[in-house]
Amino acid sequence: MNIDFSKNSDGLIPAIIQDNETKNVLMLGYMNQDALDTTLATKKVTFFSRTKNRLWTKGEESGSFLNLVSFALDCDNDTLLIQVKPAGPTCHKGTDTCWNKDNTQNFGFLSQLEQIIQQRKEQATSETSYVASLFEKGINKIAQKVGEEAVEVVIEAKDSNDNLFLSESADLLFHYLILLQAKGFQLNDVVNVLKNRDK
Ligand code: AMP
Ligand code: ZN
Ligand code: ZN
Ligand code: ZN
Repeated sequence: MNIDFSKNSDGLIPAIIQDNETKNVLMLGYMNQDALDTTLATKKVTFFSRTKNRLWTKGEESGSFLNLVSFALDCDNDTLLIQVKPAGPTCHKGTDTCWNKDNTQNFGFLSQLEQIIQQRKEQATSETSYVASLFEKGINKIAQKVGEEAVEVVIEAKDSNDNLFLSESADLLFHYLILLQAKGFQLNDVVNVLKNRDK
């Protein structure tokens, strides 16, 4: 592998540290060849610390090691993306990431949708919001709605119309997210159950 350590006069390249599972960026550090070699040999991310002016294995005092999962070079070989499994909070201030963000899973658009549903539950009224009207009718009604949408998915699965199948699938997913919210759960709770089954 041809890493371009010479671009910066100090021989250091940035290493972006990303949680392998949540995909959150945890911190940024700098590496020289020695730091990278040590990282690969020990499987614990090791930087060259500009403040300490020596190799620094992240977690050497705190125990919050960054266990190496994989690493990749960018398009022009001067920046590392390192995927890790963190052993504890990554920032020395005690937070999960150096940007004060919880290292929780994010499901992108589905998480945004989940937030909107939660807002409708807490703030909206049935006059202005369909979702709020479902919450007002209660869990039994919402669960029934999920059942209806599931049946519609089954019906469309037997048909050959892809658009209808996808549309009913979206209905099902949407109402299922509402049911989860009504029960006080989040998508993450279900995903965790699936993950634990996978062990
Ligand atoms: P640690 O490597 O976690 O044992 O922490 C040792 C020292 O490294 C801390 O006292 C901080 O000075 C520094 N440090 C730890 N984590 C970070 C970080 N994410 N960013 C910058 N400095 C850090
Ligand atoms: Zn680059
Ligand atoms: Zn930090
Ligand atoms: Zn439907």
